Amino acid sequence: MRLIITGAAGAGKGTVAKKIQETFNITHVSSGDMFRAEIESNSELGILANSYISKGKLVPDEITVDMVLKRLAHSDCKDGFLLDGFPRTLAQAEALENKLAETGQSTELVIQLEVSFDMLIKRIVGRRLCPSCGAIYNIYFTKPKVDGICDVCGTKLVQRTDDTEKKLEVRWHEHINRTLPVLRYYGMQNKIVVVDANNSPEEVWNDLANKLKGRL
Ligand code: AMP
Repeated sequence: MRLIITGAAGAGKGTVAKKIQETFNITHVSSGDMFRAEIESNSELGILANSYISKGKLVPDEITVDMVLKRLAHSDCKDGFLLDGFPRTLAQAEALENKLAETGQSTELVIQLEVSFDMLIKRIVGRRLCPSCGAIYNIYFTKPKVDGICDVCGTKLVQRTDDTEKKLEVRWHEHINRTLPVLRYYGMQNKIVVVDANNSPEEVWNDLANKLKGRL
């Protein structure tokens, strides 16, 4: 099964992706997570990527495509994958589909999480992450029991450097200008499943699970 999950920053891609990964037992490949790991390890790629990410801009296609396609060549992606945050431009989508076509494959479905800009602001600016176990909180919707501390492992929570209102606006424009063409591309192939992601994570998941039943 080869799936893509897409949505503006804050649409809840990470949460839904985790559910899909657990339910269908497929490898989750998140380009954002890969970049963050590179930044964390202070690699050359990480330093370069961070010069774009820290401004809310997309990392250039050639760097992103190279990184993700190399990851998809690993054996754990042989029987399928869930791509999260990639492709975000038409050039990335074409590079992905050209690569898959070499082995007679293609993306089966694209899950599009739709969310309003107002909701995004609360979700993004309120988001806090546990750097140790990966748990995700939100100071408006899903607060930790103790302010700033992870319920699961007690680590101090952090905010992503690109999770500010100003950077969110830049990311929103990147989404409108550069990622909507990707949706049109897959829409023409009748591969898109749209889910209203303004709702709670449970409602989003139930809606998606029902829609996937009819498509997979
Ligand atoms: P995400 O966690 O998916 O929101 O990604 C965080 C940031 O990493 C984005 O705002 C971009 O700067 C960068 N990034 C992630 N995926 C891509 C991609 N497919 N193309 C370009 N930049 C990306």
